[in-house]
Amino acid sequence: MKPKQSIPKELRYTVADFNREFPNDDACLECIKEQRWPNGVTQCVKCGVERKHHRVGNRTAYACQSCGNHIYPLAGTVFEKSTTSLKTWFYAMYLMGSTRCGISAKQIQRETGVTYKTAWRMFRQIRSLLAEGLQLEGSTVEMDEMFHGGTRRGHYWRERMTPVVGMVERSDKQRIGRVVARVAPDIKKQTLRRFAKEYILPKSVVFTDEHVGYDGLENQGYTHKRIRHTAKVYVTGDIHTNTIEGFWSTVKRGIGGVYHNVSAKYLQTYLDEYCFRYNRRDKGNLLFKAILEQVSQRAS
Ligand SMILES: [Zn+2]
Repeated sequence: MKPKQSIPKELRYTVADFNREFPNDDACLECIKEQRWPNGVTQCVKCGVERKHHRVGNRTAYACQSCGNHIYPLAGTVFEKSTTSLKTWFYAMYLMGSTRCGISAKQIQRETGVTYKTAWRMFRQIRSLLAEGLQLEGSTVEMDEMFHGGTRRGHYWRERMTPVVGMVERSDKQRIGRVVARVAPDIKKQTLRRFAKEYILPKSVVFTDEHVGYDGLENQGYTHKRIRHTAKVYVTGDIHTNTIEGFWSTVKRGIGGVYHNVSAKYLQTYLDEYCFRYNRRDKGNLLFKAILEQVSQRAS
């Protein structure tokens, strides 16, 4: 039997590491400042000089060393208008980054002691940082669809469910394969073709099942290979969609187990979180740092 894989040492980041690096709000503010202006140096908007900016008392402001003009590292970030302490925000991000399948607002409430309303707001805002606009670059891609919500009762169950289209690159020696998952209006030919065109590089090999919506992908410049699921043939050599199906089961397990009920309205943001995790699955619990980086990257 294979021994249970543990996180390699360099990818471990324990709660003790977290508390050492971020003991208080000041340390968190300093971190955001460093992200936005490394070493605190920025060109002053007032005097135009490139200068170091120093913290102003215990305010969330830094002042230009030359003319004293103030800058605010939290401006335009998800923290800007929040009355919740930065350390609590950071801890919530740490929790989201150190669990395998995600964490619910309820768990954030329990762990941080904020109200449920606050926890839910934080949770949504942190998750909003995780959407990435990526295009797949691998030349071997599996494409598949899944359905979310509703029940399979009655004739028209598919019409009450939300379709999701997923595309995943197969990993190779150089790098791990990444995934894109999008809520779709339907799984008709035009829709699937549009998704393929948007996310998959021309000339890639695309693996799909026999669903008619994938008909004609071969005319779009792709090498199209299909699995004959209906004939109970699931794997023929490298012709399979096991990678994307593995991703779907993680999503379903997560949404069912951690998040319970997710409405169609919020489904995309949950998918974004799962994609973000999947695309950084080689980062161990340094995933927290990847989430943290998004704060300044997404600042307006
Ligand atoms: Zn200045």
